[in-house]
Amino acid sequence: MTAGAAALAALLLTLPASAHQQRLLLGRSVEGRRIDAVELGDRHAGKRLLVVGCIHGNECAGLAIVRALERLPTPAGVDLWVIENLNPDGYAAASRQNAHGIDLNRNFPWAWRPLSGIYDSGPRPLSEPESRIAYRLILRVRPRISIWFHQHERLVDESGGDIGVERRFAALVGLPLKRLPREPGSAVGWENHRLPGTTGFVVELPGGSLSAAAAAGYARAVLALARAEKPRSLARGRA
Ligand SMILES: [Zn+2]
Repeated sequence: MTAGAAALAALLLTLPASAHQQRLLLGRSVEGRRIDAVELGDRHAGKRLLVVGCIHGNECAGLAIVRALERLPTPAGVDLWVIENLNPDGYAAASRQNAHGIDLNRNFPWAWRPLSGIYDSGPRPLSEPESRIAYRLILRVRPRISIWFHQHERLVDESGGDIGVERRFAALVGLPLKRLPREPGSAVGWENHRLPGTTGFVVELPGGSLSAAAAAGYARAVLALARAEKPRSLARGRA
């Protein structure tokens, strides 16, 4: 056995049973960058969660949180889906919008309306490849809880799902729970209406980047929230 193979064997022995990780290419951005999902934990588990590290390309401190999540063991009974970065073009350009200048978080089909300027909602709902990628994954996975990281209001937004879930997460991370305006065409607005009984909510992180310790703390809070969820075979939405 070579040293490399021995090291790999030793690593595999240390991995817990729940360390399943699968990376899937979901699609590509306007400029052709990959948008991946990473599935962590038990793919047959009833407790399905989704975490999106970045949707506004200049609010991406959540990337450090999702990377920390990928390094931590996923609790038994949890099927955890991660979209690290839904807006890689915006991130590359340090821009809120995608490469078409569209605010992806105004491009979802619930309560969509035409908006221009910084909140440009696109020519129609789901006009953008990035929003369609999230839309399709969410309808396929039907996460019981979805967490969308933004910056930089330092709060957990009461986004219209189960306020108990939002309150629990706010307490875990030490942020206040407040209600921001419910914006037309937002991802969580669509999720909470399209998939009743599930909870999608926004976490507004502080400005700047997170320390490794802070990112790991948020990641552990996500896992604690997942553990606290009651198992449920399927959260079915309206047809
Ligand atoms: Zn934002």
